[in-house]
Amino acid sequence: AKRQGRNCYHYYTTAMQDAANSRARLSNDLHQALAEKQFEVYYQPIVELATNSVHKAEALIRWQHPTLGQISPAKFIPIAEDTGLIVEIGDWVFRQAAAQAVRWRNLLDPEFQISVNKSPVQFRADHGSHLSWFGHLRDLGLAGSSIAIEITEGLLVEASDKIRGQLLAFRDQGTQVALDDFGTGYSSLAYLKKFDIDYLKIDQAFVRNLANDSSDMALCEAIIVMAHKLGIKVIAEGVETAEQCALLKQIGCDYGQGYLFARPMPADACEAALLQGRPG
Ligand code: C2E
Ligand code: CA
Ligand code: CA
Ligand code: CA
Repeated sequence: AKRQGRNCYHYYTTAMQDAANSRARLSNDLHQALAEKQFEVYYQPIVELATNSVHKAEALIRWQHPTLGQISPAKFIPIAEDTGLIVEIGDWVFRQAAAQAVRWRNLLDPEFQISVNKSPVQFRADHGSHLSWFGHLRDLGLAGSSIAIEITEGLLVEASDKIRGQLLAFRDQGTQVALDDFGTGYSSLAYLKKFDIDYLKIDQAFVRNLANDSSDMALCEAIIVMAHKLGIKVIAEGVETAEQCALLKQIGCDYGQGYLFARPMPADACEAALLQGRPG
């Protein structure tokens, strides 16, 4: 038993060492990634459930590492946040999304909206970069409503004057705000009252078992009823089956996003699908 214990311990530290090494390596490589053009923005359609039409998409970054292949944002975004690189990367994603919004507003729908994830680190670091975002939209002749920002609950809990000011500035520009991953964090209803939120995104953890778990169904329904009473639209994340989609429609969910409709895709593939009037 002792021996086995030692082996376990050894295995554990090796795994930890590997993780630390790979983190250090990724952090190192991330510094070059922008300049080396290793990032690409993918777009995932957000489907209006009542009409089965698409007027929105979420921008999701992809990193094609020269030797390690595609690396998940779930893995490198936290590193980019720790190193502060997320500010530069986030600005780049925003500019890509804005350029895409110009194109898709001309080509597909004058109201098309692209949502961009904005990390709390970006808000905290902000020395006026949101103003440069607004300037960029103006330069492109884009309305503030062409972009939405996705934030997480932690940001609302933190709620410093700086963060509050930036959220208000976005609203003044007509840029809508979506609360991402709803249900996984603090999920305090008080924040929904205190901040003007336009969309609530129900985390995929609640959508996954919708068909077999009556408490998840009850939760989703309660979230939707409450959101609607507050004038907030609801987007369900991670919709993978027709059954989930039917249930979400039944309980009045406004939008769905997930593999059932389309995976995140490169801009040209997304555009081709949307031009044919289908999500994916
Ligand atoms: P998120 O904002 O919650 O994005 C939704 C994630 O769910 C995406 O993962 C998307 O590909 C995935 N997804 C969509 N539909 C389905 C489905 O039907 N089933 C399942 N299982 N998954 C689905 P992705 O693209 O790997 O991104 C992971 C996270 O990385 C994002 O979660 C977001 O927190 C972060 N992220 C991605 N791009 C950016 C970015 O440009 N900036 C920032 N700050 N964070 C980003
Ligand atoms: Ca998101
Ligand atoms: Ca989410
Ligand atoms: Ca998430």
